[in-house]
Amino acid sequence: MVAAQLKALGVEPGGVLLVHTSFSRTGPVEGGPEGLIGALRAALGPDGTLVMPSMTDDDEFPFDPNQTPCRGMGVVADTFWRMPGVLRSDSPHAFAASGPRAAEVTAPHPLDVPHGPDSPVGRVLDLDGQVLLLGAEQDSNTTIHLGEWLAGVRYRRPKTLAVLKDGVPAVFHYAEIDHCCQRFALVDEWLDAHERQRRGQVGRAVSRLMRSRDVVATVVEHLRADETAFLHPFGVDEECDDARASLG
Ligand SMILES: [Zn+2]
Repeated sequence: MVAAQLKALGVEPGGVLLVHTSFSRTGPVEGGPEGLIGALRAALGPDGTLVMPSMTDDDEFPFDPNQTPCRGMGVVADTFWRMPGVLRSDSPHAFAASGPRAAEVTAPHPLDVPHGPDSPVGRVLDLDGQVLLLGAEQDSNTTIHLGEWLAGVRYRRPKTLAVLKDGVPAVFHYAEIDHCCQRFALVDEWLDAHERQRRGQVGRAVSRLMRSRDVVATVVEHLRADETAFLHPFGVDEECDDARASLG
């Protein structure tokens, strides 16, 4: 049932599929989160690769790919990395993957650029993958951050991560392309204007399917025209204020 809905939406058998989920909107699905993951795998077939975000919820503890939960990404993502045969990158900005390209997608990636070209989302782009928002909104679409990086936006927010340096706890400081992400909703309009995403029912949720390269091309085009398109005006929220202030 759900696998058939995914195929009807346009999920490509044998492809690479990056999925962001909101199970509360999708469910109830037969078999729960595992059942939904099974349906995604069935739609992709044995030659397909399934990818999900798997980052830590808590930057104050060193990341352990075998233990650190990712509840913030939803119950489906937090179920996926624990399943047999699923690989998870060793990074607080982790992604998890299963299928023939999983090792490539989850290979080591730099700490200071979470969603750049040399990251799991960058590899999904290189592999001409699709992005599926399963009941989730564009504000969870990490491929948009890849577009921001490739567009060369200059805004950053200071971040810290707890890491282990030669086994000793340490704090890693870096600056990340970040803001509240609410205005990522604009990407819906931008993609729809060129028929670059498809909508369809999956479980109970209206879902969206798009190509990674279309998301990146659309975002780069709009950000080159207006670097601050995703930032709220000053005074709306702290995240966007920080990002704007970093532009000087
Ligand atoms: Zn904002």
